[in-house]
Amino acid sequence: QPVLAVVGRPNVGKSTLVNRIIGRREAVVEDVPGVTRDRVAYDALWNGRRFTVLDTGGWEVDATGRAAQIAAQAEVAAQTADAVALVVDARVGATVEDRAVAKVLQRSGKPVLVIANKVDDERVEADAMELWSLGLGQPYPVSALHGRGSGDLLDAVLAILPEAPADRDPIGGPRRVALVGRPNVGKSSLLNRLTGETRSVVDSVAGTTVDPVDSMVELGGESWRFIDTAGLRRRVSHASGTEYYASLRTASALDAAEVAVVLIDATESIAEQDQRVITMVIEAGRACVLVFNKWDLLDEDRRLKLEKEIDWELRRIKWALRVNVSALTGRSVDKLAPALRTALEGWEQRVPTGRLNQWLGELVAATPPPVRGGRQPKILFATQAGTRPPRFVVFSTGFLEAGYRRFIERRLREDFGFTGSPVGVSVRVRE
Ligand code: GDP
Repeated sequence: QPVLAVVGRPNVGKSTLVNRIIGRREAVVEDVPGVTRDRVAYDALWNGRRFTVLDTGGWEVDATGRAAQIAAQAEVAAQTADAVALVVDARVGATVEDRAVAKVLQRSGKPVLVIANKVDDERVEADAMELWSLGLGQPYPVSALHGRGSGDLLDAVLAILPEAPADRDPIGGPRRVALVGRPNVGKSSLLNRLTGETRSVVDSVAGTTVDPVDSMVELGGESWRFIDTAGLRRRVSHASGTEYYASLRTASALDAAEVAVVLIDATESIAEQDQRVITMVIEAGRACVLVFNKWDLLDEDRRLKLEKEIDWELRRIKWALRVNVSALTGRSVDKLAPALRTALEGWEQRVPTGRLNQWLGELVAATPPPVRGGRQPKILFATQAGTRPPRFVVFSTGFLEAGYRRFIERRLREDFGFTGSPVGVSVRVRE
């Protein structure tokens, strides 16, 4: 979701304005320089649109002189946010510091709103118009404290923020499942077991020559749409399709699906081809359940060996749930539906921005990022950029090593779950 940074000198009313924007009265922290806040980013919702509000008041920036410090703060804000709200005290008018900040923002090229605060009644509105002189366009007169003008302001904020990218997946209807795996792991057998040999709602529509592509499957009291299963149900001879063709089909099924069932033959070693399928699932950003088939054939020896193989070969997908089944006997196929549900839950989970940043603050305080080139990168804040799958963006003053990113991802999983779903953690660095 897009990010709006709120910048300005101490005491102009930034925190009050932030609280006004997010529609809350809690956590008004005075603009005392040096006071670090435990939370800096908040979720806001206006006219059905979500965005993140960044309160820069608590940022400590290394610079000398207050004007320079505030300007540096604005620079960071401009680099990390999609748009900036510059708060000015209309009763004081534009100070040297305000002008320094305005210049920085002008150079940044980011959309900027000048907010003339403390316009508690219309008699002071003339003061607000004086702020045209900052060269950033029309000032918005508001009273953050009393709410005056805040509706217009929020409309203006939405107008300058970019739209959040539309969800590429349709939501609603039966959950869409891709049943994938290399040839001969038992995909057709499992599908036939799940649908029952004869009953299938979508399959074999009388009088049509075109094969319906998806199969409806009842599992755990719910309907699921298994994507692109025509070939599977007809048990196409494997020789007829090249591996390339098979992987195209897998890719398109994954594209249409929400969750993948990756079927693996438990009686054979985990192969390169299994790994390729798993990579495709992760790259498609799908929730995932690993299903080990042909469990009826396993002896104790193979079982132990398999556990070791899984530990090593599948360590990159440790977060996926595992179900051991036999398509032949029907063993444990009833465990599939609960696993699919858990995976989808993790895939759609959202951590509120406030909670995320509180958590992140504690994490970073306990384990700061490693020093690089003699400098300690400072982590500013994080937002969850999206769900399906969960994606996080961490804003930092310096490069974060891959190891530290993985550390953040691991701790996110430990503390928030995300079972069965890939989780993305990316870093945005200000230069
Ligand atoms: P697909 O290529 O993944 O669709 O695999 P198939 O469903 O065609 O199965 C490949 C072979 O494995 C067939 O001979 C199946 O009878 C056999 N098979 C599938 N599932 C099981 C199972 O759970 N147990 C046993 N013993 N054999 C299975």
